[in-house]
Amino acid sequence: MTDAQALVKTLDFQLDIQSDNESLLYDACLESRSVYNETIRLAKEGMDWDAIPDRVADDADLVKNTTQRVVAKALGAMENYYEYDDFGQPSHTKDGAYPLRANYEEGYNLSLNDDGDVAFRISAKPYKHVKGVLDGDDAHLDILKTALESDEWKIGTTEALFHNDNAELHVNVTNTKQTVRDKQDSQTVVGVDVNEDNVALTALSENSVEDTLVIDFPEIKFERHRYFTMRKRVQNAGKESIHDTLGGCEERFVRDRLHKVSRHIVEWSRQFERPCIVFEDLKEMRDSIDYGTRMNRRLHHLPFRALQYYTSYKASFEGVPTAWINPEYTSQRCPMCGHTERANRNKKRFKCSSCEHQDHSDRGASVNVAVKGIKKHQDWNVPALNNLPQVKKVRRRASGAVDAPTVASDTAKGHHPDGIRGVSD
Ligand SMILES: [Zn+2]
Repeated sequence: MTDAQALVKTLDFQLDIQSDNESLLYDACLESRSVYNETIRLAKEGMDWDAIPDRVADDADLVKNTTQRVVAKALGAMENYYEYDDFGQPSHTKDGAYPLRANYEEGYNLSLNDDGDVAFRISAKPYKHVKGVLDGDDAHLDILKTALESDEWKIGTTEALFHNDNAELHVNVTNTKQTVRDKQDSQTVVGVDVNEDNVALTALSENSVEDTLVIDFPEIKFERHRYFTMRKRVQNAGKESIHDTLGGCEERFVRDRLHKVSRHIVEWSRQFERPCIVFEDLKEMRDSIDYGTRMNRRLHHLPFRALQYYTSYKASFEGVPTAWINPEYTSQRCPMCGHTERANRNKKRFKCSSCEHQDHSDRGASVNVAVKGIKKHQDWNVPALNNLPQVKKVRRRASGAVDAPTVASDTAKGHHPDGIRGVSD
């Protein structure tokens, strides 16, 4: 038996700090390091752990509550033997900035300002505050703004830290009403195969292959290629500043589209009984992927992760769990007979040389992802796969509108050479 889990998220932001405050935050992070090191030192000396917080707080130039949070983290590391790093060096011998941990409304505060931005105030040192506004991904800002205005959400501890010399704030939030059903407690598993210009979804239940949907988004690929080419040109001309501006435009465009696609994935999945949405774990993908060039790899990378992430958190807001599987062979394996077809990588049509099975190759991959998801997390059997439903296709257009579903009887047809498919509008 399994319990539903409370919805907890860690939201990451960059800190846009008011002038001359940045060094104050950095100093506080150095102080946090010495609190951490001192805690480990005292614990190793055999001091009673209950006495450590007060002892350390007396000397620390930090807000008391913040000191206590850092001490608790250090003792937690002691408990779990994390105090040794990968090279067997005790981590308390390290120096440099260490995350400043704080409780909401004690060590830090957040509020919506008149411009609609989230303003922060971190008590870096006693009576010394670091102020500014948060920058970051729309998705994270959205959640945080919702959390600030809704009783359903609780804002928890934060960590202020320096990452590649940039100040960041990682905020924990919990939704107190919404819970996410345990993934093992699912009756439908939806396999998601994310590609550069589409995403394929197949829903499997214990009894049947329920349905397949392919959502095309050629504009995302098109825009990314366009900006990539423009960037190259700008780089060749040696104008790095324009490069950044272009990156921002592209990112906003792609992000906006991916949000819409991810919403669509969640809505589609919710029509089934107790769904669980399954993705390929991209951390494992680097090795198994064989796109031809470095450029291809760069072009592919961002939307994969972002789409999975957006879908995953939107799903959790609906109480729908997500799961992750190893992507190995998901696009090469024949769903019918299990034969692995190495030669078929770049075509939209899958042809099995062993059992003659033919299919839309991305649909085949989504079936394989769902099958892996069932085997990994469900206690029911994979249904018979010998009767796959027709592939339904929708296209996300630049306006954001979705065409009425079109049934593609032969999905290889209408595949335009430049990768933009001619689905009738
Ligand atoms: Zn086969």
